[in-house]
Amino acid sequence: MIPGARLVILGKQGAGKGTQCVRLARHYVVPHISTGDMFRAAAQSGTDFGRRLREYMDNGELVPDDVTIGVVAARLEQDDTTTRGFILDGFPRNAHQAEELAHILKPRDIDLALDLEVDTEVVLKRLAARRVCSTCGANFSTDNPPKYDWTCDVCGGEVVQRQDDTEGAIRRRLELYEQETAPLIAWYLERDKLVQVNGMGSPDVVTTRLIRAIDHRRDRDRLR
Ligand code: AMP
Repeated sequence: MIPGARLVILGKQGAGKGTQCVRLARHYVVPHISTGDMFRAAAQSGTDFGRRLREYMDNGELVPDDVTIGVVAARLEQDDTTTRGFILDGFPRNAHQAEELAHILKPRDIDLALDLEVDTEVVLKRLAARRVCSTCGANFSTDNPPKYDWTCDVCGGEVVQRQDDTEGAIRRRLELYEQETAPLIAWYLERDKLVQVNGMGSPDVVTTRLIRAIDHRRDRDRLR
């Protein structure tokens, strides 16, 4: 049987985390857990909670840690993650969340955190061109649109620009990434849990690099 995996993916907004996570989730047969997708779904619910989430997201601000950690902890208790593992996308985003994740997973830890490295100029261009399906979250871009008139190839939903892909919110999210999330690279390095992977190039090339890095690390840990 294909072994599961317990993975975290780090990288700036627009580095390609979402696209790569869908592929890695398929390859290792584990759920792709994206806090951004979970919050976007909740924001569409029309509840007060959803409206508050929408405000944080549209301004490029982080949702408060207690809410975020509670949502992730509940998801990580479900059978699919306890038996197969997971790939976490967009979480942890700061040191407090990383500590809480280690606490939630005790006595086991993650296998690996992957840092997907892409230049800031490239992510800015990708974010401006990014389009997503408002129903299933599939990723497209102005260079790679759906086949028919902004209708999702996967589910037929409407393909739109994300509400937080505005210039101001993008700037704020990248600022928060540098302040809050980039320090996690050192945090996982110190714990010998980090691999840095070049995120430039075609999605297929990047997926191959990621799988090679994960399998290499697993072989090393098995031989220890
Ligand atoms: P993303 O799709 O990962 O870019 O996330 C979209 C938005 O959801 C972020 O700008 C935050 O407002 C919120 N969000 C997602 N993950 C987290 C997290 N781990 N902590 C706090 N806020 C988050």
